[in-house]
Amino acid sequence: MNIQNLIRPTIKALKPYSSARDEFQGNSDDMVFLDANENPFENGVNRYPDPQQRSVKSLLSEIKGIPQKNILLGNGSDEVLDLIYRTFCEPNQDNIITLPPTYGMYSVLANINAIAIKSVELDAGFQPKVDEILNIANSNSKLLFLCSPNNPTGNSFEAKSIEKLIKNFKGIVIIDEAYIDFSNNESWVSRLDEFPNLIVTQTLSKAYGMAGIRLGICYASEEIISVLNRIKPPYNVNELTQQKAILQLKDYDLTQQQVLSILKEREALITNLQTVSFISKIYPTDANFVLAKVDDATKRYNQLIDKGIVIRNRTTQPGCENCLRFTVGTSEENSLLIDSLKSIS
Ligand SMILES: *Cc1c(COP(=O)(O)O)cnc(C)c1O
Repeated sequence: MNIQNLIRPTIKALKPYSSARDEFQGNSDDMVFLDANENPFENGVNRYPDPQQRSVKSLLSEIKGIPQKNILLGNGSDEVLDLIYRTFCEPNQDNIITLPPTYGMYSVLANINAIAIKSVELDAGFQPKVDEILNIANSNSKLLFLCSPNNPTGNSFEAKSIEKLIKNFKGIVIIDEAYIDFSNNESWVSRLDEFPNLIVTQTLSKAYGMAGIRLGICYASEEIISVLNRIKPPYNVNELTQQKAILQLKDYDLTQQQVLSILKEREALITNLQTVSFISKIYPTDANFVLAKVDDATKRYNQLIDKGIVIRNRTTQPGCENCLRFTVGTSEENSLLIDSLKSIS
């Protein structure tokens, strides 16, 4: 598969902006920087941030076992996904494939970028209909989004389905692994070398507890990373975000402890949800949330709001009629949720 043929001609021809911090990349400690028109008085953020976020990438590289050259960071996964669209999808010409019910940003970004959307709904077990997906794809289908574990359903897609899609889809396959740290399944990042058309995205927003700093991660071949690098805004990850990410990634034990405690809470929450009279089904989950079917989702949603608890009503999503999505909170928050559910039964 030739990735170059998938890249938009405009992007291939582009000469990237070269920032001051891009041009000089030496050992910086005893240098005098008079190149970027910054204010020279130190306050911790008076300098432009590292455009390649090398310290953050080096920690991620260690944790995930992936070389830095295969990593690109963005202002949240949302920026990473947008860069992918702008690299591969020609407006008013190309299309992408999504598998509803799934994460809403894939279609929002398609709409913003004037890219058509082909959708193939997941089957009754929320698994991809592999043959249908491959059949609906045409020569303008540039991106296929697989969200696994999937939001809002919580389940992971079967590995053999994912593999068949990567091998047979003639565009780029993006596996969105925002929730991978809550799952027992292995990340697909370990298989990047096998598949030149594979991009894996992750984020610090969920398991790492840093939704507020906006840091999304993209893992792909060096070839794909280098083209995404050509179009990313030079200073897309700000200095405060980089500093905070470094501190948190250095304390990876803490993240692992928190994930374990969220998983324990998730099991307790599922057990307790099973005793709520109007919940008829709880779907299997590999994420830090639980999807459940109730008698009347909108009524229950509003009743919980009145009790001061905000959850997500997913009833309008395909295959999710009368479904509510509950994020796993602290032990106290989960107890409050269960108490409130029982009081409205
Ligand atoms: C929460 C979430 C993300 C994270 O997006 P960020 O922009 O990194 O916060 C990505 N994908 C899915 C499916 C999500 O649910």
